[in-house]
Amino acid sequence: MPPKLPVIVAGGGIGGLAAALALVRQGFSVKVLEQAPQIGEIGAGIQLGPNAFHAFDALGVGDKARGRAVYTDEMVMHDALDETLVGRIPTGEAFRKRFGNPYAVIHRVDVHLSLLEGAEETGRVEFLTGTHVERVEQDEAGVTVYDRAGNAHRGVALIGADGVKSVVRAQYVGDPPRVSGHVVYRAVVDRKDFPQDLQWNAASIWVGPNCHLVHYPLRGGEQYNVVVTFHSRDQEEWGVTEGSPEEVQSYFQGICPKARQLIDLPKSWKRWATADREPIATWTFGRVALLGDAAHPTLQYLAQGACMALEDAVTLGEAVRVNGNDFAKAFALYQASRVARTARIVLSAREMGRIFHAKGVERLVRNELWKGRSPERFYDAMEWLYGWNADNCLARD
Ligand SMILES: Cc1cc2nc3c(=O)[nH]c(=O)nc-3n(C[C@H](O)[C@H](O)[C@H](O)COP(=O)(O)OP(=O)(O)OC[C@H]3O[C@@H](n4cnc5c(N)ncnc54)[C@H](O)[C@@H]3O)c2cc1C
Repeated sequence: MPPKLPVIVAGGGIGGLAAALALVRQGFSVKVLEQAPQIGEIGAGIQLGPNAFHAFDALGVGDKARGRAVYTDEMVMHDALDETLVGRIPTGEAFRKRFGNPYAVIHRVDVHLSLLEGAEETGRVEFLTGTHVERVEQDEAGVTVYDRAGNAHRGVALIGADGVKSVVRAQYVGDPPRVSGHVVYRAVVDRKDFPQDLQWNAASIWVGPNCHLVHYPLRGGEQYNVVVTFHSRDQEEWGVTEGSPEEVQSYFQGICPKARQLIDLPKSWKRWATADREPIATWTFGRVALLGDAAHPTLQYLAQGACMALEDAVTLGEAVRVNGNDFAKAFALYQASRVARTARIVLSAREMGRIFHAKGVERLVRNELWKGRSPERFYDAMEWLYGWNADNCLARD
């Protein structure tokens, strides 16, 4: 019998809600503590691989998420200096057949809403907003989580899904971020304001020296997500602020006009000075486990951070299913199943940033890399990533 006390989840983002759903499906009740005044998401797009949809299916919200996504025909990369095509990966029927789920682009709000609806429908998830977790104590029977207002929340275990600046991670690990010096500007633009010659049904990237630009449709093509990244000339600190059109305009010199027009479109931007952390081998501590960006913050170049948070949640649920109420064993299995895979994402994302932003001869090498490669060869290279699912997620001896 599951205990009467809930599992506590710090953070009501994509990872926290997915974890709540996964735990409810194993018979627990869950209390989500979220610092924001409302449970919600930022206005931006996100790319999701088939692995994310396998996770949605395992959490019982696959149809909700698929119903809100836009299905692209391809992923396409152009050189931002001379407009040449660098690579093209079809993501239509053959891709879907190979991986059993689609590649899609979707508004973050719609991902979050699908999880939130799923969690609310269970009737077993309690949400406390305006609740900033500060620290946790644990004993043989459970955890006590203290918030900024001085309230104590008692539970059987704590999932730290409190994002890139996790206070739960700070308490147990206390490692510094690795600020990349790369800055990301993001905005969503209405179709009527988006250039017709870029209205492609594709996840599109323009790669240039020390920069790249991404665009793709959202919400049935009614909107377009625009994301541009550059190497900052300033000393950056990890965080999100309002963007300045003047600043973004001062970068991207020498980029072809077709790509450069992207930075003229948004009326307002959000600015991310990005960072990751060195991968760590231990992210569970007794009755406390980290999940999502709290466990493995990554640069965004593989578009897999949220996908990994969803996978984490499903794996956590499976590890709990196998070990019943023994959280020590369940968390050990969860950790063993996730550390290498998520570290591979963190390290590969750094490498992908280098490839995207190549200059000089390295740029020429990049442009040769994928020439003439068949879709099947691309798909084979992606098998390790997109072949993940709830049936194969647990580490085996
Ligand atoms: C520019 C950019 C583009 C990206 N594109 C993609 C993409 O295409 N595909 C993809 O899969 N991923 C992408 N990602 C990564 C993705 O956004 C993250 O990996 C994902 O949001 C992680 O979810 P999370 O729930 O772990 O953390 P978060 O989304 O950060 O959620 C954490 C939650 O915890 C709350 N919180 C924080 N501290 C506390 C506290 N002390 N107490 C209580 N609550 C707290 C926060 O308010 C928040 O609601 C991108 C990231 C960036 C920056």
